[in-house]
This record gives sequence, C-alpha cells and structure tokens, in this order.
Amino acid sequence: MQAARYMIATCGLAIALGAPALAQRASDSTGGDPIKALTGRLELERYKATLKGLTQFGDRRQGTDRNRAAVDWIEAQLRSYGCANVQRLKYTYNQSGVQLPLAAGTPVASVIASGEIRPGLGGARMRGITLPPEPNNDPAAQSDPKLRALNAQPPAPGPREEVFCTKVGTTRADEMYIIGAHMDGRGFGEAADDDGSGTALVMEVARVLSSPDVQTERSIRFALWNNEETGFDGARAYAEQRGPLQGKEEPPGSGRYPEPRWLAMIQHDMMLWDHGMPHPDGTISPDQRPEADVNVEFQSTSKFAEQAMKLAFAFRDANERYATDYPAAVGSHMTNTDSSVFMDLIPAISLRENERGMQIGAGWNPHYHQPTDRFASYSDKDFRLGLNAAQTTLSAIARLSGATLGR
Ligand SMILES: [Zn+2]
Repeated sequence: MQAARYMIATCGLAIALGAPALAQRASDSTGGDPIKALTGRLELERYKATLKGLTQFGDRRQGTDRNRAAVDWIEAQLRSYGCANVQRLKYTYNQSGVQLPLAAGTPVASVIASGEIRPGLGGARMRGITLPPEPNNDPAAQSDPKLRALNAQPPAPGPREEVFCTKVGTTRADEMYIIGAHMDGRGFGEAADDDGSGTALVMEVARVLSSPDVQTERSIRFALWNNEETGFDGARAYAEQRGPLQGKEEPPGSGRYPEPRWLAMIQHDMMLWDHGMPHPDGTISPDQRPEADVNVEFQSTSKFAEQAMKLAFAFRDANERYATDYPAAVGSHMTNTDSSVFMDLIPAISLRENERGMQIGAGWNPHYHQPTDRFASYSDKDFRLGLNAAQTTLSAIARLSGATLGR
C-alpha cells in the first residue's frame, strides 16, 4: 500500500526522479533498508553541535567579517565530511545598506474576524490571532554585550562568496538535485533558527551522503546561500552564473559535469519552532506543540507547480516512512526564500517549521529576526523538529537519487 501510493504520488516524475530504480535497489546488498540505515546516521547531538558551531559567528549578516568567517567555517566542515568538489560562487552585492526603521515597541495581537478574508504572503489566507513579524534593526537591542560586540560591524557593499559541494552520481552524474539553505542572518542575535537550523540540516545531510560507503545514481549539490536576507541575491547569482552551464560535459568525453542538469531545488529555512498561534494577549506558548510538523511548501502559481506538488508529496511520504517523531504537511504557498528564484526554472519546494505565509507571517515565531534568535532559546523538542526535517530530506533525496549503501 505504501509503495503503491508512492508510485502514484510520483508517477509524473518517475523517470526524472528515479523512483522505480530505487525501489529495486532498496533491498540490494545490505539485506535491509539502506535508506533507514542512512537516516539513522543523523543524530540529534550532531545536528545541535553543527548548529551551535554556526552561532559562534553571531548573526552572520552579509557583507561583514563575521559572515565571511562563517563561510570559511562551513567550507572547512564540508571538506572534513569528504564532500567532493567544494567550490565558491563569487558575485558582487553593491547595494548600500539602507537603514531600515528600528522595531517599534511591543507588537499588538490582532484577531481576524469570522468570514474575513485577509490575504498573506505567497497567496496564503491569514487565520485567527496574528502578530506583526517586525524585524529588529537595532544593534543595541541585543542585551548580551559579548554578542552585541560580535555583531557590531555593519555590512559593506562589494564582493560576496558562498559555498557549495557535490555528491557525484555513479550512473547519472549529469543530473542533480540541489539541497539548499541560507547561511546569512539578521536581527543581531545568533540567527540560530533563521537560518542556522537549515544550514546545519544541509551540512548534516551532506555529511551522511558524503560517506565513502554511500553511492547515489544521480548527483546531489549542497548549497549554502549567502545574501538571502537582502532578497535571495546569492541564490539568484548562482542561477544566473551556473544555469547556462547545465548538462555540459567538461572536458568533452571526461564524464565530468561541472553543472549537472537541475532536477529540483529543495530549500530549508527556519526548522525548529512550532509552538502554535499567538494567544489573544500576544504571548506565545514556551513549549513545542506536540502536534508540531514539518511544513513542505510548493508555490501553486509557479511554472512547475504540478511537478513541485508531486515532489512535496514524495517528501511527505518519505517522512511517513523514515522520520522518527514529527509528521510533514504539504502546502501550496511557498514564498520568501531562495527556492523562489528556482520555481519557474525547475520544480522547487521549501521545508520549514511553519507555513511562511499564514504562520510565520502571523508572528508565530517570536524569535524571528530578533536578538533572541539564539541557540539557548530552543529546547531539544525544537531541535528535534529540525532533525526530523533532516530525516525527511535525507530519506526523500536518497530515494530519488537512487542511494545504495556498502561497496
Ligand atoms: Zn530565513
């Protein structure tokens, strides 16, 4: 039943996504389920340690020394995992830092009336009690003097860099999935949830898949975008520079493809916090809600909406099989993250702690772009939601790319 449903969910994409080959391979050589074995190599403590490592660079704001130091650290980590062909994409971001208004006081909750249709971002419809998700733009709002000093340098226009590495496919090296998250942040905290949590997830999935005993038929690229917070400038630079190189063998006859043809892009942005809707007094539950879920979103107005929807359900199905704690839900209003750059080029989805339009957009996460977005603000139940998203992506991509284990 599970297998049959999976095939139905992905049938339009079966060839591109490689599902049938995978089903056969699943029982080869290991005698067990290699995807379950791979997923078991993700650990809560390792995920937390990688996320903690990112927070040593403060909010990693683009155009600063702390951002560049974080890029260096990410690159060193990827190399230590054995991820192949670690590379940097270079681009220039020249907009001068327009001073945004500072956050204005305590946000006031507003209640959407019965029957009122209030549109949100990405085509969402807002519901219930909402808080305005205002970013903090005031460096002095950070109460920890050490972190305030770490985050003091303002951004300067100029050259920018971002890191990516690749798992090269054994039989279809010329095709790849792109797994992404943005490593820059804002708000003068540690950008722990936004988006240390997604960055650590992509790094941990890269670590597991880079192990020498793992083979995939198709290639997988791990990309840690910069400049997301200024409007997806790092992801856009990648698409502009690398898009035209897709599928070209270089040098001819070598079997090497510097830019394999893009099959899909999967973004991870804010993976920890699902505490529910704000209360009427504007407070939010301090506890992860037991019914927390991973939100997999596609954009129904995008050029590849149909395929992206099927991909989203393939992720949901992988979650049902392999995630240990939290379920996944599919939504149609993906918005405001790097996958937006790709959604009219290839099927693109995002994984998040909440829906971006209706939930994050309604102020469900009180640490969003705030000085309090720090490692210490989250509990193991929050980190475990991020781990479950990692399990979801790892298992889905392992299935789609034809992963096998053992030599
Ligand atoms: Zn983000």
